[in-house]
Amino acid sequence: MDSLDQTLDQELRQLEAMHLRRHLRNLDGPQGPIIPFDGREVVNFSSNDYLGLAGEPFLIAAFQKAAADFGAGAGASRLLSGNQPPHRLLEEAIACFKRTEAALAFSCGYSTALGTIPALVGRDDVVILDKLSHACLVDGARLSGATLRVFPHNDLDKLNSHLSWARNKFPRGRILILTESVFSMDGDLAPLAGIVALKNRFDAWLLVDEAHGIGVIGPEGRGLVDTLGLGSEVEVQMGTLGKAIGSAGGYISGSRSLIDLIINRGRSFIFSTAPPPAQAAASCCAVQWLQSKEGRERVAALTQNRKLLPELCPDVVPETPPSAIVPILIGEEDATLALAKRLLDAGLFLPAVRYPTVPKNKARLRLTLTAKHRREHLEALATANLSRCQPRGGPL
Ligand SMILES: *Cc1c(COP(=O)(O)O)cnc(C)c1O
Repeated sequence: MDSLDQTLDQELRQLEAMHLRRHLRNLDGPQGPIIPFDGREVVNFSSNDYLGLAGEPFLIAAFQKAAADFGAGAGASRLLSGNQPPHRLLEEAIACFKRTEAALAFSCGYSTALGTIPALVGRDDVVILDKLSHACLVDGARLSGATLRVFPHNDLDKLNSHLSWARNKFPRGRILILTESVFSMDGDLAPLAGIVALKNRFDAWLLVDEAHGIGVIGPEGRGLVDTLGLGSEVEVQMGTLGKAIGSAGGYISGSRSLIDLIINRGRSFIFSTAPPPAQAAASCCAVQWLQSKEGRERVAALTQNRKLLPELCPDVVPETPPSAIVPILIGEEDATLALAKRLLDAGLFLPAVRYPTVPKNKARLRLTLTAKHRREHLEALATANLSRCQPRGGPL
């Protein structure tokens, strides 16, 4: 034990010296725009609960009812005895919401990618992914054993040349392109129409991770793929139920054949206990609610806050951001941490994001907006004057 602890402590000290050591902090209540955080109340600009559903009474009630009806846990894998009505209802609701033939629910978004990508491609195939793809897409791609190629963020020319190379080298192989629709750290959008055109040209498949698109993009929050009318062109749509949906879990939506194949080949689906039925029921309730009048109004409230931000903080956010994620690039890790601390002292929680989540010296504050932020919360940001702390380069 001594030797393990000594070795690991040394590694931790190295992280500390590089300003890269992380610590857990405590949220002492439900997620919301104002949170009790490490012993005080702060305005919360760190949450992915974009629609404020995590603390929503009707969702909590759906969760409680399903727990009472079906138990606290599913007790077995979906392929054994763990397949309960809430799981099936959730998948029907997602397929309907995403306007696809079928859908499959997982315990979380991370395990969705880890199970799905290796089910679709293997050693004789190629995966081509955007440089800024989320860790779960990278890990799923690595796990598949396929040859990997990375294209610079949103660079269609480079994607084109990778596709051309892959088609030549693997004439009969499968080629799978991976991208996010809304990028989790930069908040910008993938050029999906261009990617779809290239994919069709080279006979490749496309997986789009809508983790930050669902609940945010489009009047009912159906995501970027649906909003651009590309639903029938994207073979594999993926997302999480833990962000705007306010619950937990991940999903794949697409054709019946796609879903049946993952049920048979997706190892994180097969060899894992089914998600708690209450989690599935709450997710199902949220997905259906999004399509109601109230749901549409909630998505519109988030859009409204996105528009309000550049009005109140034009120096750091010159234009309406394309999503709910607003990066404020600082650069060095220590300067970013110092700024985050100053803001926290002023009662504003904007998390510092640094390596390895983003490249070295691209440290930033990552501001996320929700439908529940009120005007005065955004005004507090303006008063805190983030612009004074901007490096010469200005915002990202
Ligand atoms: C959060 C996130 C995931 C993982 O989803 P979880 O349900 O939290 O495991 C996947 N992809 C992206 C882009 C994410 O931001």
